Amino acid sequence: MFLSPLSMSGVRLTLSSWEDAYKTVPPWDVGRPQPAFVELVRNGELVRGKVLDVGCGTGENALYIAEKGFSVTGVDLTNRAIVAARLKAVERKLKVDFREGNALSLDFKDGVFNNVIDSGLFHTFPDADRPVYAREVARVLARRGKYFMLCFSEKEPTNWGGPRRVTKQEIESTFSPMFNINYIRDALFATRFHSNGGKAYLTSAIRISA
Ligand code: SAH
Repeated sequence: MFLSPLSMSGVRLTLSSWEDAYKTVPPWDVGRPQPAFVELVRNGELVRGKVLDVGCGTGENALYIAEKGFSVTGVDLTNRAIVAARLKAVERKLKVDFREGNALSLDFKDGVFNNVIDSGLFHTFPDADRPVYAREVARVLARRGKYFMLCFSEKEPTNWGGPRRVTKQEIESTFSPMFNINYIRDALFATRFHSNGGKAYLTSAIRISA
């Protein structure tokens, strides 16, 4: 199931609804890194150094990036996802610091990451959480650090429910106070039920000030 209240603008999903999602394999948990992030790494768009994967789920993106030589931390609200991610790291002999945490109140000092990646977290937040989240991402990023975000776009049909669809204007207004937006480009979001991925935006932004 895709958590249906995700399409509502005023509702924050509870921890227990996220934990429940991981009782089975949720639709976004595709067992491989998102192609959009693979491409980013291949194109050399990440700043060398530390990466925070926020809302990391069971860790495929984080593990892929760690394999490519970055120092990676993955944070997720749910214990189930973090346990699964840690297990994968052990199985694949990769070192990633996977830990439980809340993206709206991150347990890291200011400016410690060179990159923050977000695969499918931003589009789950209600309006009121968006600026709080943007401030937290900006806070933990070093100056000139980069934020990469993949979310469903308004071009994806809404007939199947799923998370909120996000417009370019919404991304710009949420992040532009603290970031220069490099681009917001069309991308695909791989899920377990789209054959080619859902219509998404990939955002690249640089932190300019706190
Ligand atoms: N990035 C992962 C998971 C995407 S689904 C992937 O691509 O597979 C969104 C994830 O964000 C879920 O794992 C959910 O548990 C997590 N999440 C939701 N709210 C959060 C919050 N406030 N802080 C941290 N993680 C959160």
